[in-house]
Amino acid sequence: MKNYGPPAFAAVRGEGLYLYDEAETRYLDFGSGIAVTSVGHSHPKWVAAMQTQVATLTHCSNLFSIPGQQKLADRLVAQAGPGRVLFCNSGAEANEALLKLARLHGQRISGAEGKRYTVVAAHNAFHGRTFGGMAATPQEKIQGGFRPMLDGFKFGQLNDIESFDRLLDDSVAAVFIESIQGEGGVFPAEAGFLQELRALCTERSTLLMLDEVQCGIGRSGHFFAFQQSGVQPDAIGMAKGLGGGFPIGAIWVADAHAELFQPGSHGTTFGGSPLASAAANAVLDIIEAEALVEQVAANSPAWHQALKALAQKYPGQIECVRGAGYMVGLALKPEGHNLKVTTAAREQQLLIVPAGHNVIRLLPALTATNNQLQESVTILDSVFATLA
Ligand SMILES: *Cc1c(COP(=O)(O)O)cnc(C)c1O
Repeated sequence: MKNYGPPAFAAVRGEGLYLYDEAETRYLDFGSGIAVTSVGHSHPKWVAAMQTQVATLTHCSNLFSIPGQQKLADRLVAQAGPGRVLFCNSGAEANEALLKLARLHGQRISGAEGKRYTVVAAHNAFHGRTFGGMAATPQEKIQGGFRPMLDGFKFGQLNDIESFDRLLDDSVAAVFIESIQGEGGVFPAEAGFLQELRALCTERSTLLMLDEVQCGIGRSGHFFAFQQSGVQPDAIGMAKGLGGGFPIGAIWVADAHAELFQPGSHGTTFGGSPLASAAANAVLDIIEAEALVEQVAANSPAWHQALKALAQKYPGQIECVRGAGYMVGLALKPEGHNLKVTTAAREQQLLIVPAGHNVIRLLPALTATNNQLQESVTILDSVFATLA
C-alpha cells in the first residue's frame, strides 16, 4: 500500500555500522532502522545466538514457560528495579499494555470501572499507531482520518511542570511521557521536571509511565534515559533497540502495580517467543560484554561538541543540537530543510532520519566508534557546505 513514501534504495546487506544497497554501495548507517539495530547489523554474537535458537525452538506460545524469556525478564528487572515484565512485539503494543495498566490502576483507586481513566500525555509526543497510541499522540498527521479517538487523554507541555500540575486532578489514572521525545524532534525531559513529575504523581496517586521505546536500552548513555534523573517510574515501555532487529516489546511494571494484570487480563500469541527472547538476550549480552552503555556515555560528549561546532559554522542552516548519548537531533532552518539534508546526506553515503519540526535525527548503533562518529560529522559538514 502507499502508506510509505517512495523508498530511497533497496537495502540488501548490513554489517556493523554499514548498510549496503544492490550495487554494493556502502552507507554509514546513523538511522539504525529507526533506533532498532542497537548492536549494529549482523553482529556475529547476535547472529550465532539467533541461528542456534532457530534450530532449537522458535515459537511455542505463552501456554508454556520459556526459559529465555524468564532470563530476559530477570535482566530487565535488574536494570529497572523490583517489578515484573510482560512481553509483546512492538512499541505500540507495549504502550497499549501500559494504557490498559492505567485503566486497571484507575479502577483500583476509584473503586469502580470507568470512573478514573484519564491519561495525561505530552504535546509533541509519539506513542505509536494503534488507537491507544494515536490517542496519546496529539498530532494531526497521526490522528487525521482516524477519529473519533479513544476517550480520556489530556496533554501537558514537556518540561513545564505547571501544565501537568493543572491537569492532575482526581480523574487522572496515569501520566505517560517519553523520557526523550523522539519522533517529535528529540526533546529530552529534564531531570528536574521528571523529579517534580514523580513527586506530583505520588501525591495524586497517579501512575508515572515512561515510554522508553526509542530512547531506552543504552541509547542515551544510561540503560534507561530516565536514569539520568534518579526518578523511579511505576512502569516503562520498551521495544526498538531491545531486540537488535528482531521484533520484541516489553513493559516493566513496579511491584506495587504488577499484580494489576491477573491471569486472563492481557495476552499475546507471539510476545516473548523463544526466538525474540534470544534476540534480546543476545543484545544484552553484547551490551554487557562490550560495555556499550559506558562507551556511549564516554564517546558522546566529543561528538555532541563537534556537532555544536557545525551549528556555529552553519548558523543559517542549524538552529541547535539536542539529545543525549547516541540520540541526537539537529533542528534546522529554513522549513523543510531536514528532508533536503537527509537526501543530500544519503547521496554522500550517510543515513539519517528526519523527525518532527524540521529536525534530523542521528541514531547510530551503540557500537559506533569515535572514528565513525567523527565521520558522520565530516559528511554532515560537507552536506551543509554543499547546501549553503
Ligand atoms: C517507535 C515508537 C513507538 C512505536 O513503536 P512501534 O514498534 O513502531 O509500534 C512508540 N513510542 C515511541 C517513543 C517510539 O519511538
